[in-house]
Amino acid sequence: MNKAISIAIDGPAAAGKSTVAKLVAKSLGFVYIDTGAMYRAFTYAVLKKGLNPEDEKQACSIIDEVKIELLPGYIVKCNDEDVTKAIREVDVSSNVSYIASYKDIRLALVKMQRKMAEKVSVVMDGRDIGTYVLPHADVKIFQIASVETRAKRRYEENLSKGIPTSFEDVCADLRKRDYIDSHRDFAPLKQASDAIPLDTSNMSIEEVVDAILDIIEEKTGVKRLC
Ligand code: C5P
Repeated sequence: MNKAISIAIDGPAAAGKSTVAKLVAKSLGFVYIDTGAMYRAFTYAVLKKGLNPEDEKQACSIIDEVKIELLPGYIVKCNDEDVTKAIREVDVSSNVSYIASYKDIRLALVKMQRKMAEKVSVVMDGRDIGTYVLPHADVKIFQIASVETRAKRRYEENLSKGIPTSFEDVCADLRKRDYIDSHRDFAPLKQASDAIPLDTSNMSIEEVVDAILDIIEEKTGVKRLC
């Protein structure tokens, strides 16, 4: 059997990582793993239980009872409930970075993420994939874009999904999450020293996907299936 290949795509909130990672995975026949969805699902579980997400002890108290599944069709389940849409709502988005800053929760989710990448080739997106989750990933991309571009993209995405938000709130949420994500003690958002930076502010999705597929082919020899 060929060795499983892993592609890490990290970067700040709403840099377009998941859209691009899904398309890259599809082109290569790899499995796409959205680690942000896992932190979001955990946040959903904390809120559903009526616990305070800013209280580390309370949030960590349910680690053993939270079951998170990433299923085909990008379905996310938390304790058997389909939370695919709910984890994109504002209450989850505005609290997820607190949850993601707690070491015990990260350790539990990172364990699952590493297991998922053990036997199959994956494209995994997040904040700490290249630095912490898969430090030996075959290709590491650090995808960035200006905060204005990112806020515009996320605002339009929310509108299309019927999630009510204002542009100003989206901007404030991105800035807050980026700050907490890059200043936490454990596995913060940071470009790995061997990651390739890609500023997508002035690129279309197709251009970004193409650029990443070229890098992957150059580094691993793996070619597009389609
Ligand atoms: O990728 P997405 O924006 O959905 O991630 C939601 C949040 O989950 C991030 O703002 C960050 O706080 C957290 N996260 C993380 N590490 C990852 C993926 C996401 O801390 N690998």
